[in-house]
Amino acid sequence: MAPTIPFDNSYARLPEHFHARQPATPVAAPRLIRLNTALAEQLGIDPAALSVDVLAGNTVPEGAEPLAQAYAGHQFGHFTPRLGDGRAILLGEVVGRDGQRRDIQLKGSGPTPFSRRADGRAALGPVLREYIVSEAMAAFGVPTTRALAAVATGEEVFRETPLPGAVLTRVAASHIRVGTFQYFAARGDGAAVQVLLDHAIARHDPAAAQAEQPALAFFQGVVARQAALIARWLGLGFIHGVMNTDNMTISGETIDYGPCAFMEAYDPGAVFSSIDHAGRYAYANQPRIAQWNLARLAETLLPLFAADEDAQIQVAQEALSGFAPIFQAAWLGTFRAKLGLAGVEEDDATLIQGLLSRMAANQADFTLTFRALATEPASARALFADPAAFDGWAEAWHARRALGALPDAAMRAANPAFIPRNHLVEEAIAAATSRDDFGPFETLVHVLSRPFEDQPDHARHALPAQPEERVLATFCGT
Ligand code: AMP
Ligand code: MG
Repeated sequence: MAPTIPFDNSYARLPEHFHARQPATPVAAPRLIRLNTALAEQLGIDPAALSVDVLAGNTVPEGAEPLAQAYAGHQFGHFTPRLGDGRAILLGEVVGRDGQRRDIQLKGSGPTPFSRRADGRAALGPVLREYIVSEAMAAFGVPTTRALAAVATGEEVFRETPLPGAVLTRVAASHIRVGTFQYFAARGDGAAVQVLLDHAIARHDPAAAQAEQPALAFFQGVVARQAALIARWLGLGFIHGVMNTDNMTISGETIDYGPCAFMEAYDPGAVFSSIDHAGRYAYANQPRIAQWNLARLAETLLPLFAADEDAQIQVAQEALSGFAPIFQAAWLGTFRAKLGLAGVEEDDATLIQGLLSRMAANQADFTLTFRALATEPASARALFADPAAFDGWAEAWHARRALGALPDAAMRAANPAFIPRNHLVEEAIAAATSRDDFGPFETLVHVLSRPFEDQPDHARHALPAQPEERVLATFCGT
């Protein structure tokens, strides 16, 4: 008997107006680029069940119930009541070895009723970018969707120029977004919001079902997960780039790696997305934007928070005000670990900010500076345009470490040697797109699977871009 994927599709059992039943559109000449067999095994899927025809959408695997999910979203502050999966198909869900239920989705799998005038496809470049960056995030230990496979379609997609097409198989704790709640709330469909809430609670926060106010407990959980997530992003120099409400999960996983980037020289105002002219989604704005998005989620739940309007708003505001202290504590925890500080001292935040402002003034590479502190602290000073700027701070740091220091190994585990540097991602994409050469992609994925280990053979991958290699803008994932 042919191996099968053990699907159990809870989203497909929700009311019909939650989704549109839609199989993937077959492609001309599917070819496997990469199968993440380790992830398949974690998910309890026999890799043999993941044939290239299944991963390309040419065959609907047994037990799959392909559908496109409905959602809305605020994009750069503007609300669109109907977005939905325009180029993705949820095949179904599996329950992994860890007991966790996860979605298996094909992205770039052809048009759906939500495609509007677009083609429902993905170009090879963005598929490779999402594969590389989402798997790196997983290796960093940051909550994220995962990449189970990438396949080339053998077809062209037309963007500004013709480009090779590809399909990514994405794995997520769920694809429920802030925008999914907005979709139903904007239609005045309170019954659907309640159904979605119950489903989301069952999947992401079963304890909330037992709370006195399940909707509130659920919302507080989302706030806490997002606050913790954004702190992790900041600790890596990560800029998501397109934090629209349709790109923010309820699970607390990072999702939709479009114009994302890791900064090199530390700059709190860093923006890479070529469409983010106002810097709405700049590095240091991300906590504020997360809170703004969570306010939009709270609006969808207001009727479930309390009986009268005044009370609803008060409950929502109180819960939202929980973001700042959770974020602040998570941010401090992240940077204390990065600086190898054990225990808690009153001036820790000042010490951390002192380093960051010196890094900003001296164009110090974010990743290399922290890695140097974790390995050879004296070598950090050379990363500063004015090395003396580091010396003054280092004295205070050594004095603080004398009060409580983490072991070297713990510090290394908080400071990766390798991140997906933009020029390396672009290099991997260019080789694959222009020469059908997946070597650089494979090497990058391999190096980033062990980001905290020194890998002398791959020293080049730890270094910032040379001036001529520098990537100044990234483009949306379409
Ligand atoms: P994104 O910017 O990738 O988060 O997508 C925003 C919205 O546009 C979602 O509803 C997507 O499904 C839709 N979309 C993006 N690219 C395409 C495409 N090539 N074809 C159809 N829909 C798309
Ligand atoms: Mg999206």
